[in-house]
Amino acid sequence: MEQTGRVTSIAVLGGGPGGYEAALVAVELGADVTLVDADGIGGACVLTDCVPSKTLIATSELLTTMRGADGLGVDVDGARADVGHVFGRIHTLATAQSHDIAGRLTREGVRVLSGSGRLAGPHCLEVSSADGQTTRVEADVVLLAVGSSPRVLPGAEPDGERILDWRQLYDLPALPEHLIVIGSGVTGAEFASGFRALGCEVTLVSSRERVLPGEDADAANVLEDVFRRRGITVLNRSRAARVRRCGSGAGEGVEVELTDGRVVAGSHALMAVGSVPRTAGIGLEEAGIKLGPGGHIAVDRVSRTSVPEVYASGDCTGVLPLASVAAMQGRIAMWHALGEAVAPLQVRVVSANVFTDPEIATVGISQEAVESGSVAADVVKLPLATNARAKMQGMRDGFVKLFARPDVGTVLGGVVVAPHASELVLPISMAVQHNLTVDQVAHTFAIYPSLAGSLTEAARQLMPHEKAAVAG
Ligand SMILES: Cc1cc2nc3c(=O)[nH]c(=O)nc-3n(C[C@H](O)[C@H](O)[C@H](O)COP(=O)(O)OP(=O)(O)OC[C@H]3O[C@@H](n4cnc5c(N)ncnc54)[C@H](O)[C@@H]3O)c2cc1C
Repeated sequence: MEQTGRVTSIAVLGGGPGGYEAALVAVELGADVTLVDADGIGGACVLTDCVPSKTLIATSELLTTMRGADGLGVDVDGARADVGHVFGRIHTLATAQSHDIAGRLTREGVRVLSGSGRLAGPHCLEVSSADGQTTRVEADVVLLAVGSSPRVLPGAEPDGERILDWRQLYDLPALPEHLIVIGSGVTGAEFASGFRALGCEVTLVSSRERVLPGEDADAANVLEDVFRRRGITVLNRSRAARVRRCGSGAGEGVEVELTDGRVVAGSHALMAVGSVPRTAGIGLEEAGIKLGPGGHIAVDRVSRTSVPEVYASGDCTGVLPLASVAAMQGRIAMWHALGEAVAPLQVRVVSANVFTDPEIATVGISQEAVESGSVAADVVKLPLATNARAKMQGMRDGFVKLFARPDVGTVLGGVVVAPHASELVLPISMAVQHNLTVDQVAHTFAIYPSLAGSLTEAARQLMPHEKAAVAG
């Protein structure tokens, strides 16, 4: 794909991973780059969403490990979190990371403007700063990377005290006694897992048959089982209609009314019902930018919008709400705009992780696609309980699953449910990205004993002569 005309200046709206990674690429390629952000460099990713939640989960994971220590002969009775310290650490770490990124942008020559921006034509951003000044930024190419915000359910509006979105959690003065998490997608499941480990009573309200409806069903079943065993109350097929505050003094709390009339009482409610793109009221439609039904900006695989020389990246495009994808879309946009050779985004090779305990990491095709017949694949699933290292470490829950093309044995995808699955999935991602075969994976040395040994073992079981031996 080729870009006509020489591009020398870039304006980026939004300083999250979809924006700042792009700005760094563009400045490295010699462009004159201005980045505009309203709320802080690093975006929601660094300041309120991904980084804070994973920092919280670092503490909750440690607590879970310590609670399981007696099985390995270690007595660590009484392990508990100092919530003031945990929340303080989250704020400090997020702020420091934001400063680090801002410092790097400036050092590399990106002009950073603080203020609220809108598109004033395909080559212009209008920026209103806090002191009331308006600045116009003209550029050959504009990249929109405005991200998203928590979806608000009418009748359950967050108040920052008892009814919360995930950005308000870390300002609580104390741990909730009983947190009702509404929504059992990735965000809801991660917070349910994390806050349970911190010591809260947790009820998870899920509108579907099971938690994590978008994930591999075997993986979600393992997780739901672990949740129940750890004392989380999971309410399946339960849709929240509204949330209200109730009681006073020590008895103050919330009531969640479900659509079937049941009422669930707790101390706090966390709304985790998805996100909406921040695309309203910033001049997009006026400039002719096509939006999808949910307000997402429609883009092609090199991040172009419907208007030439306006690109978009990250959560505002609705492609995949992941920091890694946002950053890659932004880089691709700049490579394309600045005339570099560029490979279009391939969603099929994106790996994703649910940071529950255990974690769930996935890449490539899904079991659902295999079962529906849309993809032909052989599947091998090995429970962690059969892995020597897992036994030594006292791990009970989880598995490794590998999908391969039946004829040639190309690895098509995989699922890992294990502690640190986010690290363990990389060999599968490499195999999927580079079209490796199960023979190639099986002939790779894995450390003995290691969880990675289950990956090479699954690949071995998918090799044609092994399959024939099993069938015979
Ligand atoms: C709780 C939670 C946990 C997550 N954990 C992970 C994870 O573990 N791994 C992962 O890959 N992803 C995770 N994500 C998703 C990840 O945070 C997003 O995919 C990522 O933030 C998207 O980056 P972005 O650049 O598109 O938007 P953002 O990070 O939201 O940044 C957008 C920026 O644009 C600015 N902006 C918006 N409108 C304007 C305007 N008009 N003028 C000026 N500035 C504006 C905002 O202030 C913001 O700074 C998580 C999400 C949530 C909600």
